[in-house]
Amino acid sequence: MSQFADPEALPAQHVKDSRQMMAALFYEPNDVRYEKTPIPQLGPEEILVRVESALTCGTDVKCYRRGHPVLLKNFPSPFGHEFAGTVAQVYQDENGEGQSRFQVGDRVVAANSAPCYQCFYCGKGQTNLCDNLDLLNGAYAEYIRVPAQIARYNTYQVPDHLPFEVAAFCEPLAVCLHGLAQARVMPGDRVAVMGLGPIGQLMVRAAKLKGAHVTAIARNPQKLALAASFGQADNQVNLSEYNDATRLRQQFTPDGRGFDVVIEAIGLPETWEKALSLVRKGGAVNLFGGCPGGSTVTFDTRRLHYDEIRLVSSFHHTPHHFKAALDLLSTLQVDPRPLITDSLPMARFEAALQRVEAGEAMKIALKNGMLDD
Ligand SMILES: [Zn+2]
Ligand SMILES: [Zn+2]
Repeated sequence: MSQFADPEALPAQHVKDSRQMMAALFYEPNDVRYEKTPIPQLGPEEILVRVESALTCGTDVKCYRRGHPVLLKNFPSPFGHEFAGTVAQVYQDENGEGQSRFQVGDRVVAANSAPCYQCFYCGKGQTNLCDNLDLLNGAYAEYIRVPAQIARYNTYQVPDHLPFEVAAFCEPLAVCLHGLAQARVMPGDRVAVMGLGPIGQLMVRAAKLKGAHVTAIARNPQKLALAASFGQADNQVNLSEYNDATRLRQQFTPDGRGFDVVIEAIGLPETWEKALSLVRKGGAVNLFGGCPGGSTVTFDTRRLHYDEIRLVSSFHHTPHHFKAALDLLSTLQVDPRPLITDSLPMARFEAALQRVEAGEAMKIALKNGMLDD
């Protein structure tokens, strides 16, 4: 805990609009620079958060290498989306209008989006599909401006006992909770999680907390071991030893009938197809991992039809699941620290992304105020 800055010691009250900060700015694929840029100015209801801890994410690695049509729009673009920090400034006008419900010094975690609650999809309760979802980037920086919609609907106080790097897990954990809800995982269900990156690991843990019996599936022995220790998976299956789906089903599900729910957290067409071969009649497959753009899959229509397989997918998260994630983290029902391979100064974000890409790290916590060596 000693690495976490004392909010009292922050120069929060002294943030002037003319001041500069250091931030990662995306120019084009493979060109993200850590450079001086003005500290963002605030509008009504907005808050400025000093980033205490940001996390690497597979999506950031993809963005770094290929760009992103939705996440990165104006160039150079702020970068990074999982973070927690301390409120450094709140919007104030002379009449006290448009002020935030937060105060300078508050420890907060903000989601990377918030629904508008006005559009067709919000009216249907599908707030993750909101037409006006403005995805927030800029976590790899000293400060990040939290837009009014997010400050109002999807920013939360972080309890004092919760380290910032743990609070920053709200976003990835929230997408997992949404994914389990989409698949309608029930207590006692036999759930298979394919792919054990950070998301797969959180999925295993969250499914266990839902009372499921979880089989973790991957090829990497270390990831399988982590699914047992961190995720508390009931079974671990090394996929390289099971080319035959029937044998896997027979060994790991009652009567070999298949899993009630299969979650694909890899994002490859071949594993999407394989997921279908592991599910039982009447079961559900959540095609959770995003495949490369333009890829296609082939499914056996007979299997889908006569066996009543429910294919679902899930995108992003909702404020409901973001808050639920914070509750699971705050009560230590999910303690994600085993997923943090290392901590690095913010300036080293590029090295951190490369280590994640090379498979040398699950997640790396990037911090401000850490001495660079
Ligand atoms: Zn993420
Ligand atoms: Zn909306």
